[in-house]
Amino acid sequence: MTNPLLQDLPLPDFAELRAEHVAPAITERLAQWQTAVDAVLADPQAVDFASAIAPIEQAADALSRSFSPVSHLHSVADSPELRAAFLAALEQITAFNAELSQNQALYERFAAIAERPDFAELSLAQRAVVNDGLRDFRLGGVALEEPARTRFRQISTELARLQAEFEQAVTDASDAWQLPVNDEQTLAGLPAAALRTAKAEAERRELPGWVLTLRAPCYIAVMTHARDRQLRQTMYKAWQTRASDQGADPAHDNTERMEQILRLRHEAANLLGFDSAAHRSLATKMAGTPQEVIDFLNDLGARARPAAGIELDDLREFAASELDLDELQPWDLSYAAERLKESRFGLSEDDLKPYLPMPRVLQGLFERCTALFGVRIVERPEVATWHPDARYFEVLDQGTDLPRAGFYLDPYARAGKRGGAWMDVCASRARFGQTAQLPIAYLTCNFAPPSGDQPALLTFEEVTTLFHEFGHGLHHMLTEVDWPRIGGISGVEWDAVELPSQFLENFCWERSVLDQFARHVDSGEKLPDELYQKLLATRHFHAGMWLVRQLEFALFDFQMHLHYDPQQGGRIYSTLEAVREQVAVVRPPEWTRFAHAFGHIFAGGYDAGYYSYLWAEVLSADAFAAFTEAGLDDPGTGARFRREILAVGASRPAAESFAAFRGREPKLEPLLASYGLQDAA
Ligand SMILES: [Zn+2]
Repeated sequence: MTNPLLQDLPLPDFAELRAEHVAPAITERLAQWQTAVDAVLADPQAVDFASAIAPIEQAADALSRSFSPVSHLHSVADSPELRAAFLAALEQITAFNAELSQNQALYERFAAIAERPDFAELSLAQRAVVNDGLRDFRLGGVALEEPARTRFRQISTELARLQAEFEQAVTDASDAWQLPVNDEQTLAGLPAAALRTAKAEAERRELPGWVLTLRAPCYIAVMTHARDRQLRQTMYKAWQTRASDQGADPAHDNTERMEQILRLRHEAANLLGFDSAAHRSLATKMAGTPQEVIDFLNDLGARARPAAGIELDDLREFAASELDLDELQPWDLSYAAERLKESRFGLSEDDLKPYLPMPRVLQGLFERCTALFGVRIVERPEVATWHPDARYFEVLDQGTDLPRAGFYLDPYARAGKRGGAWMDVCASRARFGQTAQLPIAYLTCNFAPPSGDQPALLTFEEVTTLFHEFGHGLHHMLTEVDWPRIGGISGVEWDAVELPSQFLENFCWERSVLDQFARHVDSGEKLPDELYQKLLATRHFHAGMWLVRQLEFALFDFQMHLHYDPQQGGRIYSTLEAVREQVAVVRPPEWTRFAHAFGHIFAGGYDAGYYSYLWAEVLSADAFAAFTEAGLDDPGTGARFRREILAVGASRPAAESFAAFRGREPKLEPLLASYGLQDAA
């Protein structure tokens, strides 16, 4: 019996893949990896890149090729058997990686290669493989002397536990809360879908009426649409005190965990030689120094806050005159903003949908890629996938028709498929010896499927989502780096990795681009100008308030980690207050405990890194400005973007790639313009 996960085919054999193949394949790949490591360490002659690094990189890639179809299917076509096999394999791989990252002998072999006199003669990419590997070893604590080394390992284990507990407490506190409603009048204003969910929640609990929960879609629907002010206030209070000392159940209170997480992060950073956890965070980012991050956020704050203030005054006026809400409270904001948006623009999602049929949108996206990056995209219907909705496409270089890459596109929501949209790696570009391996991507979305014989009609937001994920896909697929560790998006600094994705989104707002694909599903007519103007107007709606909120999160996160002092503890809410004093226009009540459920920074890996979202947006907006300056279809600019940004992966620092594309350092103005704030200074 052959195991499809162990055959080195160009594409995974989805037709033959079964859950029982997973365990033997992963065990085999990990054993091969271990053998490669042992062989290198046992051979005193293995002291150069080809003999010591390449075999290990190859073994790591072989594992990820076997595992990627498994984790992908777990996300998009799960079954109880597959889920069990996936979780067991994941545990095996995590344990293996943890062990390997603590392998001091291997670290010393990497270090010896970097110190060889001929190291400089290696290619840029090969040097980046070694240097990134060394950096990761050091950040993992393997280079430390005892007792620091053992202490660092203890801290890592302890932090992993605390962060998981933090997340769990937020989930448990949210799940423990419910609000039964018997009077339909209380729910007035809620959209039909939210009402259906609330009804189903009640039925699940065998209760009459409806049950509201703190799951995000329910909370957002109530805050945005419920006319009952008391109801909004009740839910706001429950949400804003989750997992805190103000919450219902002290067992879920995260206060002590947050203090410990901050203390241990600071200590770990100190052990590695960094002044703070914020300094440590920047070791894998594009931003150079904490001051650079703070200056960037402060500058943006100074420009956004006046606009946010004007927007808030306008909203207050509207709420008082039109909604009878005299003192605008925090639980009124989303509700009032949505009513203002409706009354001012009168644009609903449904107005645009007939102009955005999936087949045309996809064709427009592909034509855009041809015009900009010189690639042709062709469907290969003969390639077997995991579901009839999922299709396979090949990416060819225009002119030569040489295959470059491929991708699976699985666009529609269905049962058993994880929500959201993402790009994931199926195979990485690699060249080990003579064999060349092409990069293959998975592009997954959850759009509403076609109904009847009509094609799927997308919302405008879904179109930008498709472009966004396709931007990540191009980054992966058009890489010219032959080493998976640093090819495509792999190893790219966290605060720069959203550049290609956010960049591509920008095209959706351009009239000439829309005219390529936004055609009425029945008549083929272009989007009427009146609708286009409304769409443009909504783009900047409350942009200032949105920005200052992001800045509040980013500054709070960064300052808290930067200024941590073991003598004084976390000072979590005093830091948050000071940041709000500086940038916020809305001040929540004193009893709110926003940070107690801020999973991004206490559990999600965004610690001292929340600023990355805005940082990457500066890059993507400025990169897009190169196209508005040169012409949206300018092939020279497209070729330069492909060559200097998409092709190079992490073989050089993102700042150098950006400068090579733009001919200068990034500027803030295009970002401000994209928020409609260009006049604010
Ligand atoms: Zn993204």
